[in-house]
Amino acid sequence: MKVKTRTRYAPSPTGFMHVGNLRSAIFEYLLARHDQGDFILRIEDTDQTRKVEGAVDFIYDTCRLCGLDFDEGPRNPGAYGPYTQSERLAIYQKYAHELVEKGHAYYCFCTSDRLDKLRQQADENKVAFQYDGHCKNLSIAEVEEKIKAGIPYVIRQKMPTTGVSVYEDLVYGKISVENRILEDQILLKSDGYPTYNFANVIDDHLMGITHVARGNEYVMSTPKYNLLYEAFGWEKPVYVHLPMVNGADGKKLSKRNGDASFMDLYKEGYLPAAIVNYLAMLGWSPATNDEIFTLDELVEIFDPRRISKAPAVFDLKKLQWFNAHYIKKLPLEALLEITVPHLQAAYDLSQKEENWVKELVSLYQNHISYGKEIASETALFFQDETDWDQECQAFMEEETIPKTLAVFTQYLEQISDWTVENIKQAINDTKEQAGVKGKLLFMPIRIQVSGQMHGPELPNTIHLLGKETVLKRLKSSKN
Ligand code: GLU
Repeated sequence: MKVKTRTRYAPSPTGFMHVGNLRSAIFEYLLARHDQGDFILRIEDTDQTRKVEGAVDFIYDTCRLCGLDFDEGPRNPGAYGPYTQSERLAIYQKYAHELVEKGHAYYCFCTSDRLDKLRQQADENKVAFQYDGHCKNLSIAEVEEKIKAGIPYVIRQKMPTTGVSVYEDLVYGKISVENRILEDQILLKSDGYPTYNFANVIDDHLMGITHVARGNEYVMSTPKYNLLYEAFGWEKPVYVHLPMVNGADGKKLSKRNGDASFMDLYKEGYLPAAIVNYLAMLGWSPATNDEIFTLDELVEIFDPRRISKAPAVFDLKKLQWFNAHYIKKLPLEALLEITVPHLQAAYDLSQKEENWVKELVSLYQNHISYGKEIASETALFFQDETDWDQECQAFMEEETIPKTLAVFTQYLEQISDWTVENIKQAINDTKEQAGVKGKLLFMPIRIQVSGQMHGPELPNTIHLLGKETVLKRLKSSKN
């Protein structure tokens, strides 16, 4: 019988999710769902100093917005709970002690002073610090005596000193590490909390995780985890280490720099579906050249063997391209939701009719790539004067322009019913009367009324600006 695929998203609750973290969650979700498997949330809060109030809500909110639903997790526990590591301390302690009994781990009573000295020595010798195994060979009697005396201890993994550990990663292929460079790492800290290095193995095994997908910073420590699986006699999972997502500067995204936070993007009017689509393409590509996919379509076509080894770069411009694509397809109500709050924040809309706002937003649907951009794009509707850049100035030198504008002004003045149709008619009449067409007809009008050479449909723009403003701008001279 085929074992059901189970993957997990295992964030530390730091209250921040940059797009790299989210991309891991997406790949883990796709891996599970493609195989009709389970996708699990596990909260890795063993580093209590990093814990942030409300962070778990934040993780749930983000994943819900992105359509990544969990089959099991702290809020919908299944048969493998608890799903929060700080609630599993007794489990880790039991297994750590079992490992000592089996001879694969040992108690270490070294003081921080001693370890600091070792670290200092390593620094001076310019070698990487590695615990020297000082407590590895304590006798049972010595250990018992120290424990009885209340001396704090950690439990360390006993690494083999010879041989090579090899495993096959689905993305990076064969990884081999010489055992002698593996440190006797701490599994259980003196406060009874496990390290990530221990908890991840215990939990992945007990939770029935079949595919461990996580950042590639764990590629080289995975041999240590495999030794733990072997020591317990457990079956190892399939490893899918994911390439890094770097910022445009080539550096790793980080919380400290506030890099590319999902929530910040969301608040600026990026659509979760577009973000998910773009992130799925960061370090993965389908077999075709298509790029636009819904989450369900991604589930259908996802193949982890197509994950690339090369670090991916988070490119805001590319995200904007995806987002613009999704914005074009939005129904008006949804478009209003991601744009109106930004208009309100930037301008006083109290004198504007609701319909005017709707018309403005619709007019810009094909011209913005994220919600907040509506504010800068529509500034010309909220300013008294327009500014011309050099290109506009240069264009307006054209000889025929004063006549064209004079004729157009006359036709506009005659309009009694201010409709888009009548404005189109005035432009057409100007074409006949002034004997100009194409660029020489539209561009002077556009520049004169909007201060820009590009923009949405001209008659609609003029309509929204209103007769009074347009006539005032037509009559004002910039030269
Ligand atoms: N808690 C780890 C982190 O946030 C997760 C690594 C993993 O997926 O195993 O980096």
